[in-house]
Amino acid sequence: MGYPSLFEFCVKELQYSESAAQRRISAMRLMKDIPEVKTKIEKGNLNLTTLSQAAMFIGQEKRVNQKSYNINQKRELLGKLENKSKSECEKELIKISPLATIPQDRERLITEEKIEVRFVITKELKEKLERVKALISHKKANPSYEELLLELAEIALKKLDKSRCQNALPPAEVKKSDAQKAHKESPNSRYIPTEIKRQVWKRDQGKCQYVSDKNFNAGKPESSKDQKDNAIDSSAQKCNSTHFIQIDHIKPYSYGGSSTDINNLRLLCANHNRYRWKKQI
Ligand SMILES: [Zn+2]
Repeated sequence: MGYPSLFEFCVKELQYSESAAQRRISAMRLMKDIPEVKTKIEKGNLNLTTLSQAAMFIGQEKRVNQKSYNINQKRELLGKLENKSKSECEKELIKISPLATIPQDRERLITEEKIEVRFVITKELKEKLERVKALISHKKANPSYEELLLELAEIALKKLDKSRCQNALPPAEVKKSDAQKAHKESPNSRYIPTEIKRQVWKRDQGKCQYVSDKNFNAGKPESSKDQKDNAIDSSAQKCNSTHFIQIDHIKPYSYGGSSTDINNLRLLCANHNRYRWKKQI
């Protein structure tokens, strides 16, 4: 539907606050795994707050304790949280793993310009950061974490931006089958020349060009009209995501679409690229 993520769809389209959106998405995902959660919400044994607490805990168990929950373990965990208040649930979760109850990657807006970010790091990362500090001490003695991150971001951007336009390739599953075809028919036709890639990147400004008609009906969100016409239409929703950007053939290569005509190429984020290919199959 033209949004880079389900979260943004909930916030911008459905107008939920960020935390309300997150609670609903967590609840929906648990409901997909464990359908009886729906009845429990309706009866009041579980609520959205409890479910998002559980979902966050399960995610943290995996991240910090490398523990993956199967469906039965999720069901068992939710059983322990039924009919409990937020703080009762917290106590219950701390009993299982105190470490997994620490929220990861908390961001809080302090002023227009300043954001407080909190996260837990491993000792290993801490040691690496200390080594980086030592290496950049000629430029900045005793940098704060903010200064250290700024320095690291600048080094990374310099390196990654350069290789970025060369790495824009279609998703792996597409690449594989089409690469085999390309090999049979003509070895060069799927290949997008670097200069063409560069032009597509520049024209699309590194952003996902997926456009969806805002008056989407279930099942047919993308208009088959020219994308550029849609972009001007005020009812259109354009993704503009800058994450995991790949070059997409508007008319697929396997249907005779060109790899050298920039009018047949555009940037798409990984989600919209995958979505488009799924729809085609
Ligand atoms: Zn996108």
